[in-house]
Amino acid sequence: MFETLELDDELCRAVAEMGFSKPTSIQKEAIPAALDGADVLASAPTGTGKTAAFLLPASQFLLDFPKPHCEFARILVLTPTRELALQVYEQAKAITAYTGQKVGVIIGGINYGTDHAVLDEATDIIIATPGRLFEHIEQERFDCRELEWLILDEADRMLDMGFGGIVQQICSEARWRKQTLLFSATLNSGDVRRFAHTVLKNPVEVSASPSRKERPKILQWVHYADDLQHKDALLEHILRSENMEKAIVFVKTRERLHALSQKLHEVGLSCSAIRGEMPQDKRIAALEQFKSGQTNILVATDVAARGIDIPEVSHAINYDLPRTADVYVHRIGRTGRSGNKGIAISLVEAHDMTVLDKIRRYTDEPIKPQKIAGLEPKHKVAKIPSKKPKKKKAKKKK
Ligand code: AMP
Repeated sequence: MFETLELDDELCRAVAEMGFSKPTSIQKEAIPAALDGADVLASAPTGTGKTAAFLLPASQFLLDFPKPHCEFARILVLTPTRELALQVYEQAKAITAYTGQKVGVIIGGINYGTDHAVLDEATDIIIATPGRLFEHIEQERFDCRELEWLILDEADRMLDMGFGGIVQQICSEARWRKQTLLFSATLNSGDVRRFAHTVLKNPVEVSASPSRKERPKILQWVHYADDLQHKDALLEHILRSENMEKAIVFVKTRERLHALSQKLHEVGLSCSAIRGEMPQDKRIAALEQFKSGQTNILVATDVAARGIDIPEVSHAINYDLPRTADVYVHRIGRTGRSGNKGIAISLVEAHDMTVLDKIRRYTDEPIKPQKIAGLEPKHKVAKIPSKKPKKKKAKKKK
């Protein structure tokens, strides 16, 4: 029950309407710590309810300490991507629906005029991507002096994307803040730890090890392919299969994105496509098409892998395997949302075997080989030698 977390009725009513009946493990841990006034260092991948884990205490803080005459926002949430910013924004609006608090979003790639409305309107909570917000700070359109909470969402991703410097600068602009909350998919990397050390003060460390029930149920399969043509045939077969409702197909480059979208169109499968360097309005339109069901295939480069929360994605398909295992985990996490079952399929050629082996070791979960009648691979699959050290034979005692 959310009431046990000492949240006001306005917030409990909002979460009930959002369909949340009880807090997830990260929410149970992070909300009390944040309401206690502590900095929070949270390890929580998407899908664990991390967004509400920082938005709920942030909104409660504003309810507890009202300040009538603020010109600028008191709470700032930084996210690595525009899509994630928009999702956090939507959730923030829902959570604060009965509080009278104002929420705004500032992202790159869209008209600056829209930002002015947000910056001028004395918004309580701003959700922003670092680059665009920093431009506003530099041009003195946004003042960080009234910021009391700074929340860094998917900090690991922000560092990966090279935002470390800008985020540091925003942190120092916001030096009068009372609290900082840092959320990261994992805290295993030294980079995130070092960064966290510079922006947090004596943080309470919390981690979402989701209970079995919360953990998404994702079946993971692999199809071995002889070559690109074979891959295309496998993909087409999978996309036409009966249990396919909505699929995200991941590719490694925008050239591949373009080529694959075209191939799918040629065989009569309509799809939407998103990639990083796309004008924001086009990206939003493509996502909308997919969300609304106008198309049920979304081809995407890795920008789409993180954060995007589209319920009812039945299949996450790796047309190209990612280079690293953690990106694989993020990609397949786009399916199996909100307790639904998901299927993750990787199409793998001989040169992908080393990465597949890495992924298997990293996830420690079964990724089962599958075959489609009539589309079986002609070549044998090369086995990767196990890297486990061989047990040394016990030396015979002399
Ligand atoms: P997140 O980890 O923030 O990306 O959240 C993943 C999904 O879980 C989102 O669709 C949320 O709306 C949903 N969610 C968050 N908290 C809860 C909760 N306590 N109960 C049920 N669903 C939730």
